[in-house]
Amino acid sequence: MNVLMINIPAEGHINPTLGIVKALIDRGDSVHYVTTEEFRERIEGLGAYVYLHTNHIKPISPQEMKNANIHEFLQDLIKISHEILSIVQKLAETITFDYVYYDTFGAGLLVKDYLNLPSISSSTSFAIPEEQFFTILKSENLGGFLDSSSEIVKENASLTKQMEEKFGVKVKHPFQFMMNSAELNIVYTSKSFQPGGQYLDDSYVFIGPAISSRMQSNNFPLEELINQKVIYISMGTVLYGFEDFFQTCVEAFRDFEGKVVLSVGKSTDITKLETLPENFIVRNYVPQLEVLQRTNLFITHGGMNSASEALYYEVPLVVIPQTSDQPLIANRLEELHAGYRIEPHEVSVEKLQEAVRTVLSDPSYRENAKKLSNSLKEAGGVAKALKAIDEHLGLSNV
Ligand code: UDP
Repeated sequence: MNVLMINIPAEGHINPTLGIVKALIDRGDSVHYVTTEEFRERIEGLGAYVYLHTNHIKPISPQEMKNANIHEFLQDLIKISHEILSIVQKLAETITFDYVYYDTFGAGLLVKDYLNLPSISSSTSFAIPEEQFFTILKSENLGGFLDSSSEIVKENASLTKQMEEKFGVKVKHPFQFMMNSAELNIVYTSKSFQPGGQYLDDSYVFIGPAISSRMQSNNFPLEELINQKVIYISMGTVLYGFEDFFQTCVEAFRDFEGKVVLSVGKSTDITKLETLPENFIVRNYVPQLEVLQRTNLFITHGGMNSASEALYYEVPLVVIPQTSDQPLIANRLEELHAGYRIEPHEVSVEKLQEAVRTVLSDPSYRENAKKLSNSLKEAGGVAKALKAIDEHLGLSNV
Protein backbone atom coordinates (compact mmCIF):
# COMPACT_ATOMS: atom_id res chain seq x y z
CA MET A 1 0.00 0.00 0.00
CA ASN A 2 1.14 3.55 -0.73
CA VAL A 3 -0.13 5.87 1.99
CA LEU A 4 0.01 9.63 1.48
CA MET A 5 0.21 11.67 4.70
CA ILE A 6 -0.70 15.36 4.74
CA ASN A 7 -0.27 17.52 7.81
CA ILE A 8 0.55 20.99 9.07
CA PRO A 9 4.04 21.70 10.42
CA ALA A 10 3.36 21.71 14.18
CA GLU A 11 4.68 19.41 16.94
CA GLY A 12 1.20 18.81 18.31
CA HIS A 13 -0.14 17.68 14.92
CA ILE A 14 2.84 15.67 13.63
CA ASN A 15 3.90 13.80 16.80
CA PRO A 16 0.60 11.95 17.33
CA THR A 17 0.81 10.49 13.81
CA LEU A 18 4.27 8.98 14.27
CA GLY A 19 3.04 5.79 15.94
CA ILE A 20 0.73 5.12 13.00
CA VAL A 21 3.50 5.85 10.48
CA LYS A 22 5.75 3.35 12.25
CA ALA A 23 3.06 0.66 12.45
CA LEU A 24 2.21 1.03 8.75
CA ILE A 25 5.87 0.75 7.77
CA ASP A 26 6.40 -2.21 10.11
CA ARG A 27 3.70 -4.13 8.29
CA GLY A 28 5.18 -3.34 4.88
CA ASP A 29 3.27 -0.29 3.67
CA SER A 30 5.07 2.67 2.14
CA VAL A 31 4.36 5.98 3.82
CA HIS A 32 4.86 9.23 1.88
CA TYR A 33 4.77 12.20 4.26
CA VAL A 34 4.57 15.80 3.04
CA THR A 35 5.97 18.14 5.72
CA THR A 36 8.69 20.71 6.50
CA GLU A 37 12.41 20.43 7.18
CA GLU A 38 12.12 20.54 10.98
CA PHE A 39 10.16 17.26 11.00
CA ARG A 40 12.17 15.47 8.33
CA GLU A 41 14.55 13.63 10.63
CA ARG A 42 11.96 12.08 12.95
CA ILE A 43 9.74 10.95 10.06
CA GLU A 44 12.53 9.64 7.83
CA GLY A 45 13.90 7.94 10.93
CA LEU A 46 10.80 5.74 10.90
CA GLY A 47 11.45 4.73 7.30
CA ALA A 48 8.95 7.01 5.56
CA TYR A 49 9.57 8.99 2.38
CA VAL A 50 9.52 12.70 3.14
CA TYR A 51 8.72 15.58 0.75
CA LEU A 52 9.30 19.15 1.92
CA HIS A 53 7.40 22.41 1.63
CA THR A 54 7.99 25.84 3.20
CA ASN A 55 6.60 26.50 6.67
CA HIS A 56 4.28 29.49 6.32
CA ILE A 57 2.94 29.33 9.89
CA LYS A 58 4.29 32.24 11.92
CA PRO A 59 5.11 31.82 15.64
CA ILE A 60 2.89 33.91 17.90
CA SER A 61 3.00 35.23 21.46
CA PRO A 62 -0.06 35.16 23.78
CA GLN A 63 -0.20 38.98 23.55
CA GLU A 64 -0.31 38.84 19.74
CA MET A 65 -2.78 35.99 19.98
CA LYS A 66 -5.30 38.24 21.76
CA ASN A 67 -5.58 40.48 18.70
CA ALA A 68 -4.84 37.81 16.14
CA ASN A 69 -7.02 37.61 13.09
CA ILE A 70 -8.13 34.11 12.21
CA HIS A 71 -8.03 35.01 8.51
CA GLU A 72 -4.27 35.53 8.78
CA PHE A 73 -3.83 32.00 10.09
CA LEU A 74 -6.15 30.84 7.32
CA GLN A 75 -3.86 32.52 4.82
CA ASP A 76 -0.87 30.56 6.17
CA LEU A 77 -2.89 27.39 5.68
CA ILE A 78 -3.89 28.35 2.14
CA LYS A 79 -0.24 29.00 1.20
CA ILE A 80 0.80 25.67 2.68
CA SER A 81 -2.02 23.92 0.85
CA HIS A 82 -0.95 25.40 -2.46
CA GLU A 83 2.59 24.10 -1.99
CA ILE A 84 1.37 20.70 -0.87
CA LEU A 85 -0.86 20.36 -3.93
CA SER A 86 2.13 21.16 -6.18
CA ILE A 87 4.16 18.42 -4.47
CA VAL A 88 1.29 15.94 -4.71
CA GLN A 89 0.77 16.77 -8.38
CA LYS A 90 4.37 15.85 -9.10
CA LEU A 91 4.36 12.73 -6.92
CA ALA A 92 1.22 11.45 -8.60
CA GLU A 93 3.12 11.25 -11.90
CA THR A 94 5.13 8.31 -10.55
CA ILE A 95 3.34 6.95 -7.47
CA THR A 96 -0.14 5.45 -7.28
CA PHE A 97 -1.43 6.24 -3.82
CA ASP A 98 -4.03 4.00 -2.18
CA TYR A 99 -5.40 6.47 0.34
CA VAL A 100 -4.64 9.76 2.02
CA TYR A 101 -4.34 10.25 5.79
CA TYR A 102 -4.68 13.93 6.63
CA ASP A 103 -4.82 16.27 9.60
CA THR A 104 -8.03 18.17 10.31
CA PHE A 105 -6.00 21.33 9.55
CA GLY A 106 -4.52 22.08 6.14
CA ALA A 107 -4.82 20.71 2.63
CA GLY A 108 -6.38 17.29 3.36
CA LEU A 109 -9.73 17.48 1.59
CA LEU A 110 -8.22 19.26 -1.40
CA VAL A 111 -5.62 16.52 -1.82
CA LYS A 112 -8.30 13.87 -1.48
CA ASP A 113 -10.42 15.57 -4.15
CA TYR A 114 -7.44 16.17 -6.42
CA LEU A 115 -6.39 12.51 -6.35
CA ASN A 116 -9.92 11.17 -5.96
CA LEU A 117 -8.89 8.79 -3.18
CA PRO A 118 -10.40 7.28 -0.03
CA SER A 119 -9.39 9.29 3.02
CA ILE A 120 -8.99 9.20 6.79
CA SER A 121 -8.69 12.23 9.02
CA SER A 122 -6.38 12.67 11.99
CA SER A 123 -7.78 14.76 14.83
CA THR A 124 -5.10 15.74 17.30
CA SER A 125 -7.44 17.66 19.59
CA PHE A 126 -10.97 16.84 20.68
CA ALA A 127 -13.17 15.85 17.77
CA ILE A 128 -15.26 18.86 16.83
CA PRO A 129 -18.01 18.16 14.29
CA GLU A 130 -18.43 20.87 11.65
CA GLU A 131 -21.64 22.41 13.03
CA GLN A 132 -20.14 22.72 16.49
CA PHE A 133 -16.96 24.27 15.09
CA PHE A 134 -18.96 26.99 13.33
CA THR A 135 -21.04 27.63 16.45
CA ILE A 136 -17.90 28.21 18.51
CA LEU A 137 -16.32 30.51 15.93
CA LYS A 138 -19.52 32.48 15.40
CA SER A 139 -20.58 32.80 19.02
CA GLU A 140 -17.37 34.54 19.96
CA ASN A 141 -16.65 36.04 16.53
CA LEU A 142 -13.31 34.42 17.22
CA GLY A 143 -10.40 36.26 15.62
CA GLY A 144 -12.75 38.26 13.41
CA PHE A 145 -14.38 35.13 12.00
CA LEU A 146 -17.46 37.01 10.79
CA ASP A 147 -15.41 39.63 8.99
CA SER A 148 -16.08 39.35 5.28
CA SER A 149 -14.81 42.60 3.83
CA SER A 150 -11.26 43.18 5.10
CA GLU A 151 -8.20 43.16 2.85
CA ILE A 152 -6.99 39.83 4.22
CA VAL A 153 -10.33 38.14 3.47
CA LYS A 154 -10.13 39.42 -0.11
CA GLU A 155 -6.54 38.24 -0.41
CA ASN A 156 -7.55 34.80 0.83
CA ALA A 157 -10.37 34.61 -1.69
CA SER A 158 -7.95 35.45 -4.47
CA LEU A 159 -5.29 32.94 -3.30
CA THR A 160 -7.99 30.28 -3.05
CA LYS A 161 -9.20 31.03 -6.58
CA GLN A 162 -5.66 30.72 -7.98
CA MET A 163 -5.31 27.33 -6.31
CA GLU A 164 -8.70 26.13 -7.55
CA GLU A 165 -7.88 27.12 -11.11
CA LYS A 166 -4.41 25.59 -11.06
CA PHE A 167 -5.42 22.22 -9.64
CA GLY A 168 -9.07 21.93 -10.70
CA VAL A 169 -10.25 21.55 -7.09
CA LYS A 170 -13.04 23.32 -5.23
CA VAL A 171 -12.83 24.79 -1.73
CA LYS A 172 -16.30 24.22 -0.29
CA HIS A 173 -15.96 26.72 2.53
CA PRO A 174 -13.24 29.27 3.40
CA PHE A 175 -12.82 27.48 6.73
CA GLN A 176 -12.37 24.07 5.15
CA PHE A 177 -8.64 24.45 5.91
CA MET A 178 -9.46 24.11 9.61
CA MET A 179 -11.87 21.19 9.49
CA ASN A 180 -10.86 18.46 7.13
CA SER A 181 -13.06 15.62 8.28
CA ALA A 182 -13.55 12.23 6.61
CA GLU A 183 -15.76 9.17 6.76
CA LEU A 184 -13.26 7.78 9.25
CA ASN A 185 -11.79 10.15 11.84
CA ILE A 186 -9.00 8.92 14.10
CA VAL A 187 -9.01 10.81 17.42
CA TYR A 188 -6.03 10.58 19.79
CA THR A 189 -7.91 10.62 23.07
CA SER A 190 -10.49 8.45 24.83
CA LYS A 191 -14.26 8.67 24.55
CA SER A 192 -14.38 9.51 28.27
CA PHE A 193 -12.09 12.51 27.97
CA GLN A 194 -13.82 13.76 24.77
CA PRO A 195 -16.61 16.16 25.79
CA GLY A 196 -19.92 14.61 24.72
CA GLY A 197 -18.04 11.54 23.47
CA GLN A 198 -21.18 9.41 23.83
CA TYR A 199 -23.01 11.53 21.24
CA LEU A 200 -20.44 11.15 18.45
CA ASP A 201 -21.14 8.58 15.74
CA ASP A 202 -18.96 5.61 14.77
CA SER A 203 -17.03 7.60 12.19
CA TYR A 204 -15.00 8.85 15.17
CA VAL A 205 -12.58 6.20 16.40
CA PHE A 206 -10.90 7.05 19.71
CA ILE A 207 -7.48 5.43 20.03
CA GLY A 208 -5.92 7.30 22.99
CA PRO A 209 -2.74 9.36 22.90
CA ALA A 210 0.25 8.21 20.93
CA ILE A 211 2.76 7.89 23.75
CA SER A 212 5.91 6.36 22.36
CA SER A 213 9.49 6.82 23.41
CA ARG A 214 11.15 9.65 21.55
CA MET A 215 14.51 9.27 19.91
CA GLN A 216 15.79 12.48 21.42
CA SER A 217 19.09 12.99 23.14
CA ASN A 218 18.90 14.79 26.47
CA ASN A 219 21.11 15.44 29.43
CA PHE A 220 18.37 16.07 31.94
CA PRO A 221 19.15 15.12 35.57
CA LEU A 222 16.19 12.80 36.11
CA GLU A 223 17.93 11.28 39.14
CA GLU A 224 17.39 14.58 41.01
CA LEU A 225 13.65 13.91 40.95
CA ILE A 226 13.82 10.57 42.75
CA ASN A 227 11.97 10.56 46.11
CA GLN A 228 11.02 14.21 45.70
CA LYS A 229 7.72 16.00 45.42
CA VAL A 230 7.87 17.43 41.88
CA ILE A 231 6.04 20.29 40.18
CA TYR A 232 6.59 20.45 36.42
CA ILE A 233 5.81 23.68 34.51
CA SER A 234 5.63 24.12 30.72
CA MET A 235 3.66 26.35 28.39
CA GLY A 236 4.29 24.17 25.35
CA THR A 237 6.37 24.65 22.23
CA VAL A 238 4.30 26.99 20.06
CA LEU A 239 3.59 30.10 22.11
CA TYR A 240 6.39 32.31 23.38
CA GLY A 241 6.72 35.40 25.60
CA PHE A 242 6.11 33.88 29.04
CA GLU A 243 9.12 35.43 30.84
CA ASP A 244 6.94 37.30 33.37
CA PHE A 245 4.93 34.18 34.06
CA PHE A 246 8.08 32.12 34.65
CA GLN A 247 9.36 34.79 37.02
CA THR A 248 6.07 34.60 38.95
CA CYS A 249 6.52 30.81 39.18
CA VAL A 250 10.00 31.30 40.59
CA GLU A 251 8.59 33.61 43.30
CA ALA A 252 5.66 31.30 44.03
CA PHE A 253 7.71 28.14 44.44
CA ARG A 254 11.13 29.25 45.68
CA ASP A 255 10.26 27.76 49.07
CA PHE A 256 8.49 24.68 47.70
CA GLU A 257 9.73 21.60 49.50
CA GLY A 258 10.63 19.50 46.54
CA LYS A 259 11.80 20.09 42.98
CA VAL A 260 10.35 22.43 40.38
CA VAL A 261 11.12 21.59 36.76
CA LEU A 262 10.60 24.57 34.48
CA SER A 263 10.64 24.14 30.71
CA VAL A 264 10.81 27.69 29.34
CA GLY A 265 10.70 26.98 25.61
CA LYS A 266 13.37 27.36 22.98
CA SER A 267 12.98 31.13 22.55
CA THR A 268 13.43 32.08 26.23
CA ASP A 269 16.88 33.21 27.38
CA ILE A 270 17.31 31.43 30.73
CA THR A 271 20.05 33.82 31.82
CA LYS A 272 17.48 36.64 31.80
CA LEU A 273 15.45 34.98 34.56
CA GLU A 274 16.37 36.37 37.97
CA THR A 275 18.50 34.25 40.30
CA LEU A 276 17.07 30.78 40.27
CA PRO A 277 16.46 29.03 43.59
CA GLU A 278 18.27 25.74 44.26
CA ASN A 279 15.09 23.69 44.06
CA PHE A 280 14.52 24.72 40.42
CA ILE A 281 15.72 22.84 37.32
CA VAL A 282 15.27 25.15 34.34
CA ARG A 283 15.73 24.08 30.71
CA ASN A 284 14.64 25.27 27.28
CA TYR A 285 13.23 21.81 26.55
CA VAL A 286 12.91 18.77 28.79
CA PRO A 287 12.18 15.09 28.11
CA GLN A 288 8.54 15.63 29.05
CA LEU A 289 7.42 12.01 29.13
CA GLU A 290 10.23 11.00 31.48
CA VAL A 291 9.69 14.06 33.69
CA LEU A 292 5.93 13.47 33.92
CA GLN A 293 6.54 9.94 35.17
CA ARG A 294 8.19 11.53 38.22
CA THR A 295 5.80 14.49 38.63
CA ASN A 296 3.13 15.15 41.28
CA LEU A 297 1.53 18.15 39.60
CA PHE A 298 1.83 19.73 36.15
CA ILE A 299 1.27 23.46 35.53
CA THR A 300 0.49 23.78 31.83
CA HIS A 301 -1.12 25.88 29.09
CA GLY A 302 -3.37 22.88 28.44
CA GLY A 303 -2.16 21.85 25.00
CA MET A 304 -3.85 18.60 24.01
CA ASN A 305 -0.61 16.63 23.99
CA SER A 306 0.58 17.93 27.32
CA ALA A 307 -2.82 17.29 28.93
CA SER A 308 -3.04 13.74 27.53
CA GLU A 309 0.53 12.90 28.47
CA ALA A 310 -0.02 14.12 32.03
CA LEU A 311 -3.25 12.17 32.40
CA TYR A 312 -1.61 9.09 30.91
CA TYR A 313 0.93 9.22 33.74
CA GLU A 314 -1.80 9.99 36.33
CA VAL A 315 -0.61 13.53 36.98
CA PRO A 316 -3.25 16.11 38.03
CA LEU A 317 -2.96 19.51 36.38
CA VAL A 318 -3.18 23.24 36.97
CA VAL A 319 -4.24 24.66 33.61
CA ILE A 320 -3.74 28.23 32.44
CA PRO A 321 -5.33 28.09 28.98
CA GLN A 322 -4.14 30.67 26.46
CA THR A 323 -5.74 30.06 23.09
CA SER A 324 -7.23 27.72 20.46
CA ASP A 325 -8.45 24.45 21.98
CA GLN A 326 -6.78 25.06 25.38
CA PRO A 327 -9.90 26.62 27.05
CA LEU A 328 -11.93 23.58 25.91
CA ILE A 329 -9.36 21.22 27.39
CA ALA A 330 -9.19 23.24 30.61
CA ASN A 331 -13.01 23.11 30.87
CA ARG A 332 -13.03 19.38 30.46
CA LEU A 333 -10.28 18.85 33.04
CA GLU A 334 -12.15 21.05 35.49
CA GLU A 335 -15.44 19.27 34.77
CA LEU A 336 -13.84 15.88 35.46
CA HIS A 337 -12.03 17.31 38.50
CA ALA A 338 -8.59 16.25 37.25
CA GLY A 339 -7.41 19.83 36.77
CA TYR A 340 -7.63 23.24 38.43
CA ARG A 341 -8.18 26.14 36.06
CA ILE A 342 -6.62 29.59 36.31
CA GLU A 343 -7.35 32.34 33.77
CA PRO A 344 -4.22 34.06 32.43
CA HIS A 345 -5.24 37.43 33.93
CA GLU A 346 -5.63 35.83 37.38
CA VAL A 347 -2.05 34.57 37.55
CA SER A 348 -0.20 35.78 40.65
CA VAL A 349 2.18 34.30 43.23
CA GLU A 350 -0.73 33.74 45.63
CA LYS A 351 -3.04 32.22 43.01
CA LEU A 352 -0.39 29.76 41.85
CA GLN A 353 0.37 28.77 45.43
CA GLU A 354 -3.32 28.33 46.19
CA ALA A 355 -3.82 26.16 43.09
CA VAL A 356 -0.90 23.91 43.96
CA ARG A 357 -2.00 23.64 47.60
CA THR A 358 -5.54 22.72 46.55
CA VAL A 359 -4.54 20.06 44.03
CA LEU A 360 -1.88 18.47 46.20
CA SER A 361 -4.04 18.34 49.31
CA ASP A 362 -7.17 16.94 47.62
CA PRO A 363 -6.54 13.30 46.58
CA SER A 364 -9.58 13.29 44.28
CA TYR A 365 -7.58 15.22 41.63
CA ARG A 366 -5.07 12.40 41.39
CA GLU A 367 -7.79 9.72 41.54
CA ASN A 368 -9.63 11.32 38.63
CA ALA A 369 -6.41 11.65 36.66
CA LYS A 370 -5.90 7.94 37.27
CA LYS A 371 -9.39 7.10 35.98
CA LEU A 372 -8.70 9.08 32.83
CA SER A 373 -5.32 7.43 32.52
CA ASN A 374 -7.04 4.05 32.45
CA SER A 375 -9.45 5.23 29.77
CA LEU A 376 -6.54 6.49 27.64
CA LYS A 377 -4.52 3.29 28.09
CA GLU A 378 -7.52 1.11 27.25
CA ALA A 379 -8.52 3.16 24.20
CA GLY A 380 -6.79 0.77 21.81
CA GLY A 381 -3.85 2.72 20.43
CA VAL A 382 -2.28 2.28 17.03
CA ALA A 383 -3.54 -1.30 16.60
CA LYS A 384 -7.13 -0.05 16.84
CA ALA A 385 -6.38 2.72 14.32
CA LEU A 386 -4.95 0.24 11.80
CA LYS A 387 -7.91 -2.09 12.23
CA ALA A 388 -10.35 0.78 11.66
CA ILE A 389 -8.39 1.90 8.59
CA ASP A 390 -8.43 -1.60 7.10
CA GLU A 391 -12.15 -1.98 7.75
CA HIS A 392 -12.82 1.40 6.23
CA LEU A 393 -10.88 0.48 3.10
CA GLY A 394 -12.56 -2.93 2.93
CA LEU A 395 -9.25 -4.70 3.63
CA SER A 396 -10.07 -6.33 6.94
CA ASN A 397 -9.62 -9.87 5.63
CA VAL A 398 -6.56 -9.19 3.53
N1 UDP B 1 7.39 18.93 24.95
C1 UDP B 1 8.54 18.30 25.38
N2 UDP B 1 9.41 19.00 26.17
C2 UDP B 1 9.18 20.27 26.57
C3 UDP B 1 8.00 20.91 26.15
C4 UDP B 1 7.11 20.21 25.35
O1 UDP B 1 8.78 17.13 25.07
O2 UDP B 1 10.02 20.83 27.28
C5 UDP B 1 6.44 18.19 24.09
C6 UDP B 1 5.28 17.63 24.90
O3 UDP B 1 5.61 16.33 25.40
C7 UDP B 1 4.14 17.60 23.89
C8 UDP B 1 4.48 18.75 22.94
O4 UDP B 1 5.86 19.05 23.14
O5 UDP B 1 4.12 16.38 23.18
C9 UDP B 1 3.65 19.98 23.20
O6 UDP B 1 2.39 19.80 22.63
P1 UDP B 1 1.10 20.49 23.21
O7 UDP B 1 -0.06 20.08 22.36
O8 UDP B 1 0.96 20.21 24.66
O9 UDP B 1 1.40 22.04 23.13
P2 UDP B 1 1.90 22.99 21.94
O10 UDP B 1 3.38 22.94 21.99
O11 UDP B 1 1.33 22.43 20.64
O12 UDP B 1 1.35 24.32 22.33
